Amino acid sequence: MKKGFLLTLLIAAGIMTSLSGCAEKTVPATSDETVTTEYISTTVPIPDGPVGIVASTDNNYSEDTTAMGVVPDTSAETTSETTVETAMEVTGKQGIETINGITYIDGVLIVNKTYSLPKDYNPGVDATAESAFKKMQSAAASEGLNIYISSGFRSYDYQSGLYERYAQRDGYAAADRYSARPGHSEHQTGLAFDLNSIDDSFAETKEGKWVAENCHKYGFIIRYPKGKEDITGYMYESWHIRYLGVDMATKVYESGKTLEEYFGITSEYDE
Ligand SMILES: [Zn+2]
Repeated sequence: MKKGFLLTLLIAAGIMTSLSGCAEKTVPATSDETVTTEYISTTVPIPDGPVGIVASTDNNYSEDTTAMGVVPDTSAETTSETTVETAMEVTGKQGIETINGITYIDGVLIVNKTYSLPKDYNPGVDATAESAFKKMQSAAASEGLNIYISSGFRSYDYQSGLYERYAQRDGYAAADRYSARPGHSEHQTGLAFDLNSIDDSFAETKEGKWVAENCHKYGFIIRYPKGKEDITGYMYESWHIRYLGVDMATKVYESGKTLEEYFGITSEYDE
């Protein structure tokens, strides 16, 4: 078989050679290839690389700016959101900005499964949030209701131990539905509080209902609302409130959206 093939080749070569000029053209053809290779190796690698990357970053940026402006919330897919973040970090323009490893959107500190806090971020309970809570607590008390903070600020290390205990008890996948991994807990901001019983029964109490209806007036939102687990990354937590300030909390409350939907961001762990 191989011999036959070789013969065919030889015959073909013979025919080629026998055609006038063809044999000579075979040589330039080969050298053309060489030229092409040289062309590629000299022009493509270095100059085009960086230029191409810079150009496409610019494109991504303008596309994403448009996307952010036109479609602020729900349609922001993981991909565009990720690029937005990168672009914002690079350009430092409004929107998402990262300062000392802390993410802000329109000035609002964001912590969820996508955005984490540095290990050494250890601010304690936020004084403004605490005094807002006290105001809310008094208002509730005047209606005969008793609300109190059961869990406020939690450090990275504390959260680490807490999450690990839950994970050992229920498995990591289950723990991820209700407990944040260290660095991803909103409690590390000092702006989040767990109220009263810290369990599902709170939603059905007078206090729970009052908090759901009124907390925005004092600057808080129910951070993980019912039926939004796929968006916030957490099960419904009627007891977990997050301080945003009255204006922002009222806007978010009235929008009927989660914080993730309001800002058009995700809440997903990398892995
Ligand atoms: Zn909480």
